[in-house]
Amino acid sequence: MHTTPTDIDPDAPRCTHCPRLLRHDELDRHACRICEDRATTQLRALPGLYDQLGDKLTPAASASNTGRITGASGTAPLPVALTPLDLRGPGGIVSSLLGIEQRWRIHLDWEPLPFRGDYEHSLAGCVTMLTNNLPWACENYADIAAELKLINALHSRAESTVTGQWEQRVPIGCCPAGADDGGLPCGERLKVSPWALEIKCGGCGTTWPRTSWLALGATMRGSDTPPIRSAA
Ligand SMILES: [Zn+2]
Ligand SMILES: [Zn+2]
Repeated sequence: MHTTPTDIDPDAPRCTHCPRLLRHDELDRHACRICEDRATTQLRALPGLYDQLGDKLTPAASASNTGRITGASGTAPLPVALTPLDLRGPGGIVSSLLGIEQRWRIHLDWEPLPFRGDYEHSLAGCVTMLTNNLPWACENYADIAAELKLINALHSRAESTVTGQWEQRVPIGCCPAGADDGGLPCGERLKVSPWALEIKCGGCGTTWPRTSWLALGATMRGSDTPPIRSAA
């Protein structure tokens, strides 16, 4: 018995968030289990990252966060670092996640958001609600792709701010994942830090170890084989 298609049907159902074909036991879902697991991990990490961002609020505490603020002309730095403040303030991690919770509550016909106290308690309660209901959402909530994208964006911004890699990543092109099995490519813009051991797509989660970067570059330029280059 075949459980995976051998001839790729371009109309075969795919995850709405990443380019993967849905497995036979995922056909009733909007998002695949890999995307669900990844979002669960990201959600669980956010309260810890939120705390760590608090330590990054003073630019002096983190030289890597001052680049956006001081500019090239040597103007005086602001007394707080903008990226961590941005993520911890209004419109940041907590309110974005509460927005997701509110949309799910409306869809589930539940009571409106409860008041849970300060930002930390709101975040903890919200993360619990979202992780508990993520399986439901991946299966039944038609707009789950947008929510997964938001969770991923918050997580990667928070993580790279905490680790100081935010400023060091450069764009290299658009993610080609998904195109080789007959579908549209993911298309998310790929960014890489020069020190990274792998390139990871923030959209679909596909990773490329350093050993396959040359082939990835060739794929993104539309050729099947890497061009021959003289030693550089
Ligand atoms: Zn997926
Ligand atoms: Zn991708």
